[in-house]
Amino acid sequence: MKSINVMEGDIERFFPTSGQDSNPAYRGVSALASIVIIVAFAYVASAKLGFTVAFAAEQVTLIWPPSGIALAALLLAGLRVWPGIFIGAFAANVTTHEPALTAFGIAAGNTLEALVGAALLRRAGFHNGLDRLQDVLALTLFSAILSTIVSATIGTFSLCATGLQPWHSFIALWRVWWLGDAGGALLVAPAILAWGSGFSAQGSAPSLRRIVEAVLLFAGIVLMCAAIFARSPDSHLSGHSVIYMIFPFIIWAALRFGQRATTIVTLIASGIAVLSTARGLGPFGSDSISQSLILLESFMATVAVTGLLLSAAIAERRAAEKKLSIYAGELEHINRQLDDFVHIASHDLKEPLRGLILQASFLLDDLGEELDEDARKRLRRMIDLGQHMGHLVEDLLHFSRLSREKLMKQDINPEAIIERIRSMAESWLDERKARIAVVAPLPRLRGDSTAMAEVFRNLITNAIKYNDKDEPLIEVGFTESLETPSGVECNVFYVRDNGIGIDPQYHDEIFHIFRRLPDAARFDQSGTGAGLTFVKKIIERNDGRIWLESAPGRGSVFYFTFPSAGNSGRQA
Ligand code: ADP
Repeated sequence: MKSINVMEGDIERFFPTSGQDSNPAYRGVSALASIVIIVAFAYVASAKLGFTVAFAAEQVTLIWPPSGIALAALLLAGLRVWPGIFIGAFAANVTTHEPALTAFGIAAGNTLEALVGAALLRRAGFHNGLDRLQDVLALTLFSAILSTIVSATIGTFSLCATGLQPWHSFIALWRVWWLGDAGGALLVAPAILAWGSGFSAQGSAPSLRRIVEAVLLFAGIVLMCAAIFARSPDSHLSGHSVIYMIFPFIIWAALRFGQRATTIVTLIASGIAVLSTARGLGPFGSDSISQSLILLESFMATVAVTGLLLSAAIAERRAAEKKLSIYAGELEHINRQLDDFVHIASHDLKEPLRGLILQASFLLDDLGEELDEDARKRLRRMIDLGQHMGHLVEDLLHFSRLSREKLMKQDINPEAIIERIRSMAESWLDERKARIAVVAPLPRLRGDSTAMAEVFRNLITNAIKYNDKDEPLIEVGFTESLETPSGVECNVFYVRDNGIGIDPQYHDEIFHIFRRLPDAARFDQSGTGAGLTFVKKIIERNDGRIWLESAPGRGSVFYFTFPSAGNSGRQA
């Protein structure tokens, strides 16, 4: 869904002119004139509708849709369409038995109100789609509360100054005027803005279920409003509390359909409510007309702001989720590219490296006699370094395979794996006087058995290698629940040793590829520092987590979580 805001200067997009009118200046003026005329007509038509619920004075109505139309027109088509508002307001008022001077004053107030509201919103960085909380708050504050003061003050002054209304009614008229304009800004403007500010560039057609749900929503709000408002005030559904039954529909619209549907549902509800109340029907019908419409107006404003805020909050959350999923997709893509790069690079490095080692070996074998001791030493060093580099390249290749290869999930018996490790390393264990104790029973696991064997093999060989005791002791066990500083972990395996231990400052680093601790070479010269990286990769690919507790001289315990058989969900 792509949202395109229509801003000032986009008028041509509304009214594309034919190819013959090639003069851009002419096209611009004629497009502007068309919009001005449309705005004026819309203003007059909606004003006449508003006058049908006029009560405080012929010109003071409780719901004043034109104020919403004017504001939306300026925000969508640009401030320069203001003459349309002025012409419309003047025409609407002058045809309501008013002297031209009064109509002029009122029209000036109406135009200024819309200009002030739109200018303030523009300054605040307002989004016409009302898709952020700050837009709804700005609309409420700048347009509904502040800019309406301009029109209410100038308009009421015009009525009283020209003798159409007595000065003692000024405050009462002003209040109704202000409320009516605020109602227009909160009920009518959002609907036009939400529907006019964006359109779907690639939206898919709604499903039948969604259409049925929308029909139910709109039928529901119409029926509910009719039941609440279009009934006699002394029917059994009396009391103001029934009006709150509108809220579920507003929440439904906001949660399921977004800003546009919410504005329409609110508009329908307020239309039925105002028209019914003006005819003396509904929960407000028995109060005095001015009192009841003011109460109703305040209620509808609350409904409108609630609906707008709710759908804006949901729109913000959806936008954030969309952004996150785009980032996640990009990250995944980059990760895959990196994996591919590592795979290709390490694969392609293998051959030339083998060639180099071979050539150096030939040189040593064939010309060894003729070279002096120093040259032979250098050749041997070259072969050693080449072989070490070969191991590193092999490790890289293995690491990239761990990320790429499909996991073969099967039931694994970890005790059998440990037994196999023990029998394969029997002579080494005897030589080191090392003992592997399994704290049985270990639960069966669900995962890739080759990868799982690699996890146990790496952890157990490290526990023996990095051990300064005469009799290294390795304990492999399992606990269903383990309390750690970051919370409670479930289904935790552990491999404990009585070795040299690891300074906590290295607890993260040892999982980085090719990272060996300063004294590692003292215990094992052939290591490359990749084993724990493989272990971590395998565990994380199986939705597990690995961490350790260790300190120098106090041995180490490596903990990891892993899905147990019969439970393929996340364990951590
Ligand atoms: P390698 O054993 O090839 O060096 P590893 O990734 O398995 O690579 O281990 C990284 C480093 O972590 C080792 O070089 C060693 O310094 C340290 N280390 C790993 N396991 C232990 C252990 N059980 N006790 C103490 N140090 C360990």
